[in-house]
Amino acid sequence: MRLVLLGAPGAGKGTQAKMLIDKFGIPQISTGDILRKHVADGTALGKEAKGFMDRGELVADSVVIGMVKDRLSQSDCKAGFILDGFPRNTAQAATLDGVLESLGMPLTRALSVDVDFDILMKRLTGRRTCKGCNQMYNVFFSASKAEGKCDKCGGDLYQRDDDKEDTIKKRLDVYKAQTEPLIDYYGKKGILKRVDGVGDINAIFSKITTMLS
Ligand code: AMP
Repeated sequence: MRLVLLGAPGAGKGTQAKMLIDKFGIPQISTGDILRKHVADGTALGKEAKGFMDRGELVADSVVIGMVKDRLSQSDCKAGFILDGFPRNTAQAATLDGVLESLGMPLTRALSVDVDFDILMKRLTGRRTCKGCNQMYNVFFSASKAEGKCDKCGGDLYQRDDDKEDTIKKRLDVYKAQTEPLIDYYGKKGILKRVDGVGDINAIFSKITTMLS
């Protein structure tokens, strides 16, 4: 399976991608995760990208395309892959098509995880992550027992810089303007499936696996 996961920030793409990796044993390629690692490691690329990420804007196409090209040419992608957070606009999608064509491994599916705007806002503004073990919580839907502390390891919980309200609005605007058109792009190619991303995580996953089989 060579899959692109589409969906607004907060739609739950990342969670479903991790469950798909476990089931299908193929790698997840998340440009957001790769960029955050660069920021955490303080690389030149990370320093360049951080401002864009904190403002909720897209990082330059050339930067993310380079990262994805490198990752796709690694041998573990031969068995398939899940792209999460890439492509984010039609220019990235067209470049991806070309890269995959030249590697002889075109996309087999695009899956859009659909969630209403109001729910996305609560999911994103409420999101907290543990500094110690990366466990995720949400102050509206799945709060930790003690405020600001991880149930699992007792670590401090933090809010991602790009989960602050202004940045979230910007990220959702960018999604609407630049990424949502990809639903049409993959629809026209005949490889698009859509799933309702509201409800129990396992139930959504079960719908997804049925759609992808
Ligand atoms: P994510 O975790 O996928 O929401 O990504 C977090 C941030 O990283 C985004 O708001 C962008 O600033 C940047 N980013 C991630 N993927 C891309 C991409 N494909 N193109 C441009 N910027 C990206």
